[in-house]
Amino acid sequence: MSDWNRLSQQLLRDCQSAGLSHLPRVAPLVLDSDSRPKPPPSVSTPKSQESMPKKKAAPTPVLQPQPKFEPTGNREQDLEKLAACVADCIRCPELAKTRTQTVFGVGDPQTKVMFLGEAPGADEDKQGEPFVGRAGQLLNKIIAACGWTREELYICNILRCRPPGNRTPNETEAANCREYLDGQIAVVDPEYIVCWGSCAAQNLLATKEPIGRMRQRFFQYGNAKVLCTYHPSYLLRNPAAKKPVWEDMKFLLSDMGLTPPSES
Ligand code: SF4
Repeated sequence: MSDWNRLSQQLLRDCQSAGLSHLPRVAPLVLDSDSRPKPPPSVSTPKSQESMPKKKAAPTPVLQPQPKFEPTGNREQDLEKLAACVADCIRCPELAKTRTQTVFGVGDPQTKVMFLGEAPGADEDKQGEPFVGRAGQLLNKIIAACGWTREELYICNILRCRPPGNRTPNETEAANCREYLDGQIAVVDPEYIVCWGSCAAQNLLATKEPIGRMRQRFFQYGNAKVLCTYHPSYLLRNPAAKKPVWEDMKFLLSDMGLTPPSES
């Protein structure tokens, strides 16, 4: 008996003693005319194991806002109507139960620049206005350094209600509130949107890319160029991040054809 036969019989005895009554039939490998082995047709090979031809990176797709609300052209009135819908909203039961009030958004409906944050915190929930706590005060300083005032911009958040304990908005809440955000974007129709922090950037642009890799370039959302940078509350914890944020602001101003007052 050849070594191969002895081995096969030993293997069969081992399988039987382990309780196996039969062995599955394995489809044979199919050899091409070039003699390279391929897997049997019933077996799908994961993409990662295939040798894929290298493709050029696809350009970033332009996402479009999906407002269910049709702007009439009267921006003030349209925003008032939207804010009234938001004030009664109970789509996120936990937030609707725990909020003091909804925080819709503030600023100039005719502005070129919209600022987008994450969600109201305790101060915002109390006062009904976005970015009014410590992070908001730092944001005001950044706005002033750019040569603007808060009133000249439009400021809102991914969510219009405070998540309890200031936790990060979950996907369902962000999706629930998206109609209102897209409504505000459609009405204000800004030329630029600045996303403050990863929650705003990743939600608006439907990506998981880290915020550090989204800086210093423009994305497109509908008609607006989108710039992403760190959240002011992150700057409070990491003052070293103020420098990159200022670089991002200068990047924005330069694209707008503006110079910060301190450098003019
Ligand atoms: S966060 Fe937005 S969708 Fe959720 S309850 Fe508040 S207003 Fe409604």
